[in-house]
Amino acid sequence: MSYPKTRLRRLRYNPLLRDLVRETQLSTNDLIYPLFVCEGENIKNEIPSMPSQYQLSIDNLLLECKRAISKGIKSILLFGIPKVKDEEGHLACSQSSIVQKAILEIRKENLDILVIADVCNCEYTTHGHCGTIVDGDVDNDLTLITLAKQAVSLAQAGADIIAPSDMMDGRVAAIREALDNAGFLKIPILSYAVKYSSAFYGPFRDAAQSSPKFFDRKTYQMDTANSSEAIREIQEDLNEGADMIMVKPALSYLDIIYRVKQYSHVPVVAYSVSGEYAMVKAASEKKWIDQMSAAMEIITSIKRAGADIIITYYALRDSRFFK
Ligand SMILES: [Zn+2]
Repeated sequence: MSYPKTRLRRLRYNPLLRDLVRETQLSTNDLIYPLFVCEGENIKNEIPSMPSQYQLSIDNLLLECKRAISKGIKSILLFGIPKVKDEEGHLACSQSSIVQKAILEIRKENLDILVIADVCNCEYTTHGHCGTIVDGDVDNDLTLITLAKQAVSLAQAGADIIAPSDMMDGRVAAIREALDNAGFLKIPILSYAVKYSSAFYGPFRDAAQSSPKFFDRKTYQMDTANSSEAIREIQEDLNEGADMIMVKPALSYLDIIYRVKQYSHVPVVAYSVSGEYAMVKAASEKKWIDQMSAAMEIITSIKRAGADIIITYYALRDSRFFK
């Protein structure tokens, strides 16, 4: 039966009806709020390319966690900004490292929030690459050693989920083995399985002070033009024991999210990255788009494409972001 008997507009005539037939629902259960923690006290440095996002010292991080909890957010993803860096990122493997100290404080305060700890070396290395440099490139297998140590150290501090973002081959297996050997059999791994070498990470590198000082990350992050390769990355990580998988970035990779969801049966996480946030922010500051509508439309599109969970700087969805 077709028009005039069929009228698709019948189901759009009022807001209650539209609510009733809406196919994609957003919930705070689905959202992860990324946060940047730095050394010091009472520090709240706004990130220039990410307005309304901050580098927070631990005291302010605790306040922000409480605010997130009050908004119904149940998970945060933590990134560290250490004071000192070294060639191989060994500093990331110590209980006195910034993220470990932050997690210990969150645990001490008994905050009812899941702490997902990013595992990578780029925030801790002087050169800003995700691993140990040998002959002008990141050495895969040497890097696995520091990643595994960092993961165990973060679990010891009290991280609930370990999330390796480095894109080394074999890291999930190395981290799983190290966690199991240290007695952390119950700690899940959320693997950044499909991480593209994207231009949309620029503002994050400002935030985490992790820009590579030479070359780029194309020898380990995925080529932005590839799609089937994403399935190979997922196969590898699932075989190695990943419990959840991530696609990053999100907005320019909705086709990948869809494909990954069709292929796999684990929770699929999508990271709506700093550049996606910055684009909405910048355009809305110029009053070219409406910030709240655009942000929610993007998050909805990511969920509609197949993501079960979305990492977004808009997780709190509050007036501070939508003024
Ligand atoms: Zn990295």
